[in-house]
Amino acid sequence: MQQRLSDRVTQMATSATLAMAAKARELRESGKDIIGLSLGEPDFTVPEFVKDAAIQAVKDDYHSYTPVDGYGDLKQAIITKFERDNGLHYNPAQIVVSTGAKQSLSNLAMVLLNPGDEVLLPAPYWVSYSDISKLAGGVPVVIPSSIETDFKVTPEALEAAITPKTRMMIYSSPCNPSGSVYSKEELRALADVLAKYPEIIVVSDEIYEHINFVDQHASMASFDDMYDRTVVVNGVSKAFSMTGWRIGYIGAPEWIARACNKMQGQVTSGANCIAQRATIDALNNNPEKIKYMIDAFKERRQLVLELVNDIPGFKANEPEGAFYVFPDISAYFGKTLNGKTIENATDFSLFLLEEANVATVTGVAFGDPNCIRISYAASEQDIREALRRIKEAVS
Ligand code: PMP
Ligand code: GLU
Repeated sequence: MQQRLSDRVTQMATSATLAMAAKARELRESGKDIIGLSLGEPDFTVPEFVKDAAIQAVKDDYHSYTPVDGYGDLKQAIITKFERDNGLHYNPAQIVVSTGAKQSLSNLAMVLLNPGDEVLLPAPYWVSYSDISKLAGGVPVVIPSSIETDFKVTPEALEAAITPKTRMMIYSSPCNPSGSVYSKEELRALADVLAKYPEIIVVSDEIYEHINFVDQHASMASFDDMYDRTVVVNGVSKAFSMTGWRIGYIGAPEWIARACNKMQGQVTSGANCIAQRATIDALNNNPEKIKYMIDAFKERRQLVLELVNDIPGFKANEPEGAFYVFPDISAYFGKTLNGKTIENATDFSLFLLEEANVATVTGVAFGDPNCIRISYAASEQDIREALRRIKEAVS
C-alpha cells in the first residue's frame, strides 16, 4: 500500500522544541546522562490548591462535555483575571477556553487566514507560530531583530514588513525565546504604525505574563484604538506549572471569539472538564500565591546569565521574563571538531547534545540563526552542571 500523507502534514516542520525534548528522552533511555534544557516546562509541581480543586471536581462528578467555549463560571474567572491583572474588560461572548494556548493560536489562524494572507512574526518568535500559520494557508513574514535591540523589533522594521496582504501579527511578551519584555511605550510605538493598517489583527501571546522580573506587563489590547483588533492569548501552563492539563484561553473581539467557538466545536469540543474546574481556582487566587515560582526563576536567571557570560563566544541579553536565555553563539560558526564543521546554530545545538550531553534548541526554529535557546526551567543543580559541560565542550 502506498503510504500517502497530505501535502499539508508533509510540508509541516516538526516542532523543534518537542523534537529536541524527544531526542533527549530517547538518549536518556539508552543510558546517556543527558541534561534537558530544551523544553519550556516548569519543573515545579502544580500548586496544592489547584490540585485540590481538580480532586474535588472528580468527586463532584464532573464528567460531561462542557460548553465548547468553556464553563460559564470559568469564563467569569477569566474576565475577573483580565480586569484584575490587565485592566481589560471583556464580556463572556469574548472569551473562548481551549485545549492549551496552542489550540487558541491554531483556532485564530484557522478562522482569520485565507491562503496567501501574510502573518508578521517579530523575530525571534515562538517556534509554532510559523507552522500554525502555514497550516492555515498563511505566509509567515519574519521581522528581524538582534541582540543589539534586545531582540525587539523597531516600528521602522514593522512598517517595512507590511504589505497589502498582511492580515495578522503574532508576538509574545515576555518573549519565548528571548525573554524580552515590550514596555508600554514600545508597544505604543508599534501600535502607531499598526493604526495606519486597520485590517491587521494583532495576536498578543501573554502566556508568560506572570513570569516577569520587571513587573511591567503591558498588553496591546490596553490601547483604546487597538482593543477591537487585538486578541489576547493566555493560559495556565506556565504560571501554574500546568503544562499537561492543557488549558489556554483568549479574550477577543466578539466576532473572532464566535468563529473560534465554531471551529473548536468541529475539532475538539470543549477542553477537559476537570482541568477547567481547576483553572477556576488557579485564576481566582491572588497571583501572590505563585510568587515562589517566579522568585525561583528570577534566581535561576541570574545564575544562568552568570554562567553563560562566563563561556567565551557566548553573547546574551538580559531576559526580563519567561524562563529562557537566547545567547548569540555565532562566534563558533566555521569551527571544526573531529572533522565536523559548525555551520549554523543547528549544528551547534547538535554539537552540545553530542559532546556535552546537554539538550538546547537551535535559534533557527525561532527565526534567529545566530542563537540557541537555553531553558532554565530546570533545577539549579542541572543548570550548573549543564553550563559547566557546555563550557568544557566549547573549550
Ligand atoms: N505560546 C508560547 C509563547 C509558549 O511558549 C507556549 C508553550 N507551550 C505556548 C504558547 C503554548 O502553551 P500551551 O501549553 O498552553 O499550549
Ligand atoms: N512552549 C514550550 C517551549 O517552547 C513547550 C514546548 C511546545 O509546546 O512546543 O519549549
